[in-house]
Amino acid sequence: MSNEIKTAKAAGGIAAIKATVKTISAEMGFIRGVRTLLKINQQGGVDCPGCAWPEPDRERSRFEFCENGAKHVADEATTKRVTPEFFKQWSVADLAQQSDQWLGAQGRITHPMLLHRGATHYEPVSWDDAFELIAGELNSLNYPDQAIFYTSGRTSNEAAFLYQLFVRQFGTNNLPDCSNMCHESSGSALNETIGVGKGTVTLEDFDKAQAIFVIGQNPGTNHPRMLSALERAKRNGCRLVHINPLPEVGMIRFKHPQHLLGLLGGGTELADLFLQVRINGDVALLKGITKAVLALEEQRPGKVLDRDFIASYTVGFDEFATALKAVSWTDIVEQSGVTQEKLEQAAQIFVEAERTIFCWAMGLTQHHNAVSNIQEIVNLMLLRGQVGKVGAGLCPVRGHSNVQGDRTVGIWERPTAAFLDKLGEEFGFEPPRNHGFDTVKAIHAMHDGQGKVFFALGGNFLSATPDTDFTAAALRRCRLTAHVSTKLNRSHLITGERALILPCLGRTEVDEQGTGPQFVTTENSMGVVQISRGSLEPASPELLSEPQIVARLARATLERRTTVDWEGLARNYDKIRDAIERVIPGFDDYNARVRRDGGFYLPNAARERVFKTASGKAHFTIHALPEHNLAPDQFLMMTIRSHDQFNTSVYSANDRYRGISDGRRVVFLNPDDIAATGLHARQVVDLVSHFEGEERMARAFVVVPYDIPRRCAATYFPEANVLVPVRSVAAKSNTPASKSVVISIRAATEELEQNDFPIPKEETS
Ligand code: SF4
Repeated sequence: MSNEIKTAKAAGGIAAIKATVKTISAEMGFIRGVRTLLKINQQGGVDCPGCAWPEPDRERSRFEFCENGAKHVADEATTKRVTPEFFKQWSVADLAQQSDQWLGAQGRITHPMLLHRGATHYEPVSWDDAFELIAGELNSLNYPDQAIFYTSGRTSNEAAFLYQLFVRQFGTNNLPDCSNMCHESSGSALNETIGVGKGTVTLEDFDKAQAIFVIGQNPGTNHPRMLSALERAKRNGCRLVHINPLPEVGMIRFKHPQHLLGLLGGGTELADLFLQVRINGDVALLKGITKAVLALEEQRPGKVLDRDFIASYTVGFDEFATALKAVSWTDIVEQSGVTQEKLEQAAQIFVEAERTIFCWAMGLTQHHNAVSNIQEIVNLMLLRGQVGKVGAGLCPVRGHSNVQGDRTVGIWERPTAAFLDKLGEEFGFEPPRNHGFDTVKAIHAMHDGQGKVFFALGGNFLSATPDTDFTAAALRRCRLTAHVSTKLNRSHLITGERALILPCLGRTEVDEQGTGPQFVTTENSMGVVQISRGSLEPASPELLSEPQIVARLARATLERRTTVDWEGLARNYDKIRDAIERVIPGFDDYNARVRRDGGFYLPNAARERVFKTASGKAHFTIHALPEHNLAPDQFLMMTIRSHDQFNTSVYSANDRYRGISDGRRVVFLNPDDIAATGLHARQVVDLVSHFEGEERMARAFVVVPYDIPRRCAATYFPEANVLVPVRSVAAKSNTPASKSVVISIRAATEELEQNDFPIPKEETS
């Protein structure tokens, strides 16, 4: 890691172009890379496997991708291969010593591989034998709830629908997914208050908004093309408010890589106002803005609040306003870390705008009080009728390309009775009715010995989940762990008694089935369903598509217990879409409408001011200020992602925007805290988390002085996941509280090489 921390001055620009060219040239070859990138996010092309930011409905530019999208594509479409010879050469134990970055950089897995009981190396296995082995394990369980079926947000609508059908015919609702760890809190908060678990805006609303608040989100790294929408909004006179513990360069200045001025000039200044909130000070901050809005209404009665909207569409306003009066400015300022004056400035921007959008991401969703965070946004927005209005609305920004679609088509451990009724009716069976395990419950079930078979359709479960040692122990207690994957990751190395790697096609590849080439569909953050069609030759002739894998697994497992035409569905994905149309409302004429340019919008009642809540109205809600009670030597820590990573995929040890190079085991601290605790910059320390009397330790992190509020700390995910207690979760959503971890900092007990991933300890019990 370099000595000096020099943060970037702007996001995008020539540096982004250079990084894109370098990555695609190294991984894919320049010409092949450019050809592929020109198909990304185009009508009928490949839906970027990165985040879920939408594309314009109509006209699109030739370059509808960002630096990070290019890296995800290059990562998948690399020419490097992980073959059976590779696995012969490398034992599982040796692979486990390598970093996440190294594992991902080895290339695409070419063959199904099996780790026999007690073996040191994976060996090739035929697809038939692999399915027979999984079916044997599943069918020998005492009851179906002993199996756990995880889904990552890459999975297409078609594969996800088939998968949940198989799982429910097998007899369980144990369908945890990555949504349980990210926007579950948004879903819980919005369902309760506005009757729909999704955002209410479209991309076009950004062009019409007069104010956009971005809170707990770092779009420059996690949703980079959102910066183009913000830049356009700025040019239209919109004002931007950035609320975050770290000033993120992407919200400060953006140099659009496709515009001459963006390349040669100084770029566009984005945030008009930056509120540097303390970690988990969001409830206090939002109460402060709301209190200031109510004070403005008192000064100008009838001119600030949308009284008609409140009267016609909401319940609970009077109680809410009374409760807010009792919250003192002293508590608000102390807990948020932001002055009353600045909060009043934000309120002024809010009331001066006729149309306001509020965007958020995991900075809000991964706290104990995550649902309260989001419902405080809803409270504020309801005051001025900013839901169900053109140019305004709520916008939880999803981090993985089809995480929203997977939930829509049935990946949920708590399905509604209406959904199960329709599914059972369509396929002639009685689906299980009891709720299944979400991600955290699944980890506990495996740890307790109740979960015995773990199957993952994509993802890197061990690295994505909290409490790494605990989760590793849970996986090791399984009889079988099986992963559908494109590339090697840590979850292949911390295994059950037996383990399988089932290699699948990537989004960028041609998916040829019995009835010809197929496409799949995905749903973006704004509820648009669209086509994704690959064009590259598959990385290996041995690869199967995800729908094929699910169909063959279902056939092998269910045998005569199913009347579903699995082979027919997997030969022709139109038939899967026809079945989705019959089971799930909103997919009318699916096959025809999705073939139109831009796809189609799923219905969203709240967008029409129809609030499908218990009362039929939108709800104001009352929340207490969270309590932190840090001891004098403790910090509140959050995990963050670097600019050179996508979820658990780490592309390099650099974080260009934050000025970090060659190191990921770093802890960002306020310089005054470093001085006050007797530490010094670049000192190597151990981090210890504290939860209900338990301690967890992450060794050898380098202290980095950074612009972060006092008593706050930030570390990279997944390196610091080991510190996140599995029982420390958000109320109602059960999302791991990865952004509210209480830690103390001790002088290092041992030096680790940078990039070392401490191997989860073997169980002693
Ligand atoms: S903004 Fe998200 S979806 Fe769009 S290209 Fe970048 S990573 Fe892909």
